[in-house]
Amino acid sequence: SREWHLVNRPTGWPKPEDFALVEVELPQPGEGQVLVRNTYVSVDPYMRGRMSAAKSYAAPYGLNEPMQGGAVGEVVASRAEGVAVGDHVLHFGGWREYAAVDAAQTVKVDPAAAPLSAYLGVLGMTGLTAYAGLLRTAAFKEGDVVFVSGAAGAVGSQVGQIAKLKGASRVIGSAGSDEKVKLLVEEYGFDAAFNYKNGPVGEQLRAAAPDGIDVYFDNVGGDHLEAAIGSLNLGGRIAVCGMISVYNNTEPAPGPRNLTRLIQTRGRIEGFLVGDHYDLQPQFVQEVGPWVASGELKYRETVVEGIENNLEAFLGVLRGDNTGKMIVKL
Ligand code: NDP
Repeated sequence: SREWHLVNRPTGWPKPEDFALVEVELPQPGEGQVLVRNTYVSVDPYMRGRMSAAKSYAAPYGLNEPMQGGAVGEVVASRAEGVAVGDHVLHFGGWREYAAVDAAQTVKVDPAAAPLSAYLGVLGMTGLTAYAGLLRTAAFKEGDVVFVSGAAGAVGSQVGQIAKLKGASRVIGSAGSDEKVKLLVEEYGFDAAFNYKNGPVGEQLRAAAPDGIDVYFDNVGGDHLEAAIGSLNLGGRIAVCGMISVYNNTEPAPGPRNLTRLIQTRGRIEGFLVGDHYDLQPQFVQEVGPWVASGELKYRETVVEGIENNLEAFLGVLRGDNTGKMIVKL
């Protein structure tokens, strides 16, 4: 069985030499554990944070140990009650072909209800992130003008579409290619979208939202955050989900220069972590599941094949190679 280890803590952009694909003996499940053969493995931006030694909400990856992350697979051996060989489970032993995991840390998923990869994206962690961040943290309400960055990604594409389905008066997205911008407007029903590489974000946002914005869902940070503050309306809310533009910085990024606007607008900026919002999971599945099934909420996945390409897939997320959720298929 093969698994990815972190062998050096990256400074700046992670390099292939910071990782190793290691051949190990097939893990044996202990008492209360199951052996899972992974079929879909998730790569996510937050994993960059876990490669650093700095204390954060998720523990740093250990050096020369298998990395972790979301994965879906089939149980091939079980020493636990309630989980049987042949069951499909969502668990945290990603970045490897086979994982021995505590049965209590797995969630059964139904391959008949949705494609298995969906449990890592549109119906999984990134979907709930979009739902909780928009509805709870940003306190979205009907009629709001919503701006979301990283809008062609897993979280962002769902934020924009949920806002539309729930009665936003205008939804604006930004993304890093003209092709992604076209997808947002033509397929996902965004009212406007722009390529942040084509000009200053502040100017492009003002043109796309001439009457300002009520909600900004931040996936990017940096100049996007400053632009959003600049366009914020009275009582505007900013939900800080991620700041991918700074994850590989070696020096702290400068802060937004226009924070005084929060006084005029009585604006609010609040960060959130999806892990604090799993109480919304049943409501999320109940509301979003039917939209996905009916095709009212569209999604894409970028699927990379093979455990040997797990690292490239991760680096691809940081570069923007993906449209929708980046998934590794084993
Ligand atoms: P995505 O599918 O959105 O992939 C990341 C995207 O970020 C890339 O496709 C790329 O698209 C864009 N990107 C990369 N670098 C930059 C840059 N410098 N400026 C602008 N855009 C950039 O990933 P996710 O949907 O999984 O995650 C989106 C965000 O949400 C991330 O910031 C992540 O950390 C955060 N997150 C937070 C959670 C929480 O609990 N708070 C939970 C899950 C995710 P492009 O081509 O458009 O540049």
